[in-house]
Amino acid sequence: MKEFAYTDEKFADIQLLRYRVEGFEALTLKQKTLIYHLALAALSGRDILYAQNGALNLPLRALLEAVYAALPAQTTDEDADTREFRCYMKRFWFSHGPHHHYACSKFKPGFSRSWLITQLQELQLTADEALLSYIFDPAIAPSRCNQRDGDDLLLTSSSNYYADGITQQEAEDFYARQRRALTTPPDCPPQLGLNSRLERAENGELFENVCRTDGLYGTAIRRIRRHLADALPFAENERQREVIRLLIDFYDSGDLVGFDRYSIAWLQDTESMVDFVNGFTETYGDPLGYKASWESIVNFRDEAATRRTQTLADHAQWFEDHSPIDARFRKPACRGISAKVIQAAIIAGDLYPATAIGINLPNSDWVRREHGSKSVTIGNFTDAYNRASRGSGMLEEFVCDDATRRLIRTYGDAGDDLHTDLHECLGHGSGQLLPGVSADALKAHASTIEEARADLFALYYMADPKLVALGLLPDHEAYKSQYYTYLMNGAITQLVRIEPGACIEEAHMRNRAIIARWVLAHASEREAEIVRRDGKTFLCVYDYAALRALFGRLLAEVQRIKSEGDYAAARELVETYGVGIDPDLHAEVLERYARLDLRPYKGFINPKYSALRDAEGNITDVRVDYDERFDEQCLRYSQTYTTLL
Ligand code: ZN
Repeated sequence: MKEFAYTDEKFADIQLLRYRVEGFEALTLKQKTLIYHLALAALSGRDILYAQNGALNLPLRALLEAVYAALPAQTTDEDADTREFRCYMKRFWFSHGPHHHYACSKFKPGFSRSWLITQLQELQLTADEALLSYIFDPAIAPSRCNQRDGDDLLLTSSSNYYADGITQQEAEDFYARQRRALTTPPDCPPQLGLNSRLERAENGELFENVCRTDGLYGTAIRRIRRHLADALPFAENERQREVIRLLIDFYDSGDLVGFDRYSIAWLQDTESMVDFVNGFTETYGDPLGYKASWESIVNFRDEAATRRTQTLADHAQWFEDHSPIDARFRKPACRGISAKVIQAAIIAGDLYPATAIGINLPNSDWVRREHGSKSVTIGNFTDAYNRASRGSGMLEEFVCDDATRRLIRTYGDAGDDLHTDLHECLGHGSGQLLPGVSADALKAHASTIEEARADLFALYYMADPKLVALGLLPDHEAYKSQYYTYLMNGAITQLVRIEPGACIEEAHMRNRAIIARWVLAHASEREAEIVRRDGKTFLCVYDYAALRALFGRLLAEVQRIKSEGDYAAARELVETYGVGIDPDLHAEVLERYARLDLRPYKGFINPKYSALRDAEGNITDVRVDYDERFDEQCLRYSQTYTTLL
């Protein structure tokens, strides 16, 4: 058998990895068949995200793919235009459009307009002027999701969640009116706007075009629905059948109250081995945070690793009671937190190819408060990341000394895993809003503050002797590795992901910058400092215990901001610590990083599933293959799962 290759090709700022679905062969035929149908339901929603990311993204994909498919076989001495076009096409697939998946800024094509027009002419295709401008004119749609404070965030964002010309003020007013008109109990509001596009009627009034079976993106949703129905007979138990039925109902009705019903049933299904997410989930792509992008993941439980997170979940109340936050902001009773480690079997939509390594859902505040949430760490992704980062040269270049490097080599993987577990299982689920505080009081800063809260919770507890007592860390030194790498990343190395001259935009990156810079600004120089040596910047930590106290202090403040809905303080924290970049430091870090020839972003190529069938068409086995290249996979998906063109 040939060896499994965890790393695959690199292009632009991206490296692709492969993940192995450990344990798939040992599942029952029924479980494999369930995964097979759910995987088809996942891939069937692919076009929705393209459409959400930009009104022209699907026609542009078709045009680019026609050119790509007609290119001669790749050689090492290709002309620059062809080479650059291949790279652009892969970036486009990776981001579901011409904007960077993380920074949201539009790609600069490295091939010329005339080259593309010639290619199209040879294929007897005419290039639509709007599409050409979309590719080549940097003034058109410069940002998919602009977060710059002071701008009209809708007029300056090119994502397709709001029809052209709708202003931020109009949208905010629309949802304020919708909130006042709600007929649900006041403390159980649905997530308004989640599954729709806001549009303007002929009379000028705004209305929601809702994503559902016979509504917006209906052809994609009908196909998802069909595969969900195929999955139903293979559900593991009655509760899981109910989850699938409620999801189908929600796709049919588009009713967000129904979505909460589905979410509650989903989070209560903790028994099933196989699980999945399929729908409008995360709101990072909408600058106002109402609209969710479409995503899917199908997975099954990793029994051994799940014991680790279950230990945390079993002690959730202890962690809540000992949290360094104001007692008024603590949850009196933590319930329903379940935690497990999973093996991802397929990812799609906004989880493909760039993906999260942990998931904590649902996002609805009231559902979490009343019913808890389900939290998972994706074991085969963290494993693939860890394997890829060994030997990358980052530690040699950016860590201040040998002793710290040894610390990270010894404890790094365990610390990263535990940080993710704490963040997902306990951090997001901890704390509570004061009565009367609206879940969207922090507006555009809500995601950043929420991520900071979960990270700070994790960082604070990493150093707690309780974790050693629970057998989750080997000894009382282990947390130091995580403290060092977290601060180094937030203050220094995450800058490699940002282009020169740009500022920090993405919520997770802002959160890490806030935590690292705030802590370093408040640490004395006997505790931790940034030093310059031979023209290079390093983080030096002298007193790890002191850092824990600072993480605790900031956690208390961030929890206060969230619990009280203190928008002004959220904004102040974000603007002071989370946005700007020292240009000299940025240039230095980029230059050091470039010499390592690494790529800051990673994504995963999916395995390919095929069903073996008997004469009656019943599935007799499901096979997994890992041989597909990224471009092959994307072209196959376009051939098989195009629903909205
Ligand atoms: Zn998070």
